Amino acid sequence: MSLWCGTFWLIISLPLFNFFVTSNDGFALSCLSLFCNYLMVMSKISFSLFLTVIVLVCYNVEAQPLKLRPDAFPPVDDAKDAKSIQMATSVEQMSSWDRYPTYGTYVAMMEQWANQYPELCNLDTIGESVNGRLILCMHIQGARDVPEAAQAPEFFYSSTMHGDEVTGYVMMLRLIDTLLRGYGSNPQYTNLVDNVAIYINPLSNPDGTYRGGNNSIYGAMRYNANYVDLNRNYPDPFGTQPLSEQQPENTAMIAYLNKHQFRLSANLHGGSEVMNYPWDSFTSYERPHPDRQWWIDVCKRFVDTSRMYSQSHFRDVNSVGYIEGGDWYVIPNGRQDYVNYYHNCHEMTMEISTDKTIDSELLPEYWRFLQHSFVNYIEEIFSVPSTAGIENAAATALDVFPNPAGDRLFVRGDYDGELRLYDVRGREFPVVKLGTNCIDLSGLSQGLYLLRAGAQTAKIVKR
Ligand SMILES: [Zn+2]
Repeated sequence: MSLWCGTFWLIISLPLFNFFVTSNDGFALSCLSLFCNYLMVMSKISFSLFLTVIVLVCYNVEAQPLKLRPDAFPPVDDAKDAKSIQMATSVEQMSSWDRYPTYGTYVAMMEQWANQYPELCNLDTIGESVNGRLILCMHIQGARDVPEAAQAPEFFYSSTMHGDEVTGYVMMLRLIDTLLRGYGSNPQYTNLVDNVAIYINPLSNPDGTYRGGNNSIYGAMRYNANYVDLNRNYPDPFGTQPLSEQQPENTAMIAYLNKHQFRLSANLHGGSEVMNYPWDSFTSYERPHPDRQWWIDVCKRFVDTSRMYSQSHFRDVNSVGYIEGGDWYVIPNGRQDYVNYYHNCHEMTMEISTDKTIDSELLPEYWRFLQHSFVNYIEEIFSVPSTAGIENAAATALDVFPNPAGDRLFVRGDYDGELRLYDVRGREFPVVKLGTNCIDLSGLSQGLYLLRAGAQTAKIVKR
């Protein structure tokens, strides 16, 4: 094999390299392909042998299925893999963060922070679970008495809607503690707390987590007390599946989301280690999120930061550590798509531990490599694309006024097709027309509604 031929192959390997680097599992493959080129040039291996190697490598990479998404195929019984769980029966026992709190300890911690830092935080109740446990949210915000405070963008972290995916539960408690303690001494935390209204809900399915009783997370399960998967129980914006009866935990969460205008949020899960960005209802080929590139950049920053502290995590699904939800596995009625679509909020799903219920002694290690990524993700609120775009807003918006509306709503200009009206649960209401372009809303109760005509939509607030 001549030097010319070797040079030729090195040149054509560059585009190949680029192509594979941009694909999900490409880095290892591209390195291998370059290495094969090198071997071929150096040892004059024949062209056909070279091609055979490349084909075999490609075939193997293609043939390797992605790890099944824990959200897609829920096992009936979870948390059996838990090996060593220590519970903290008092707030003091949480001081080294290597235990899970009992339900009583959890509530006491939240109350204690609210009492200890009244100028920095207040404790909200989002609602109650089926069995009457509290769904709590800590609102952290400094510099509350300046006029700009009311305009601070709202950020939301929420964890453990699957009751046995408890790593995020303790991570979020520790994040609250870290932000409150670090305020005034750590410039990054101080800046964030002063300029962002941060809301942290560590446990959104308490009945699932404390299925075995308030004093232990042994026996924790994915579902709520009605055995419903809360991440299949949100209105599906794309109408792929009708909603089964809405669970109290989600009704409360939706009311809370309506009360706020979260610009950026994340929902924490376990069972894998991967950043999962929208949509869940579609593959990126079928329907990419309009801010897909922004999502990829955000995910990359999150994973890269965590890898500065641990190289071994975020590798079980693919090598890059992030994926579009639908490319992993399509799921309907999830919270992520609901929040993105109906609330103009950029929400992603963070799968943060391959074990859903990790040994309690591993909790500090998870915190060590995740803490900076968690804090930096809050900062991403300033990089959220201003379009907050679900689609091209200008092309698909229905022009309605007034909004918020009283009993009458007018639609300006032409629209494609019949008008249809939905509430945030996805229930359809009859459209009563008072004229060509006027709709009667007097029969509706207060709240957020969605008016649609073909692909055009408008969010309406009924007063
Ligand atoms: Zn989950």
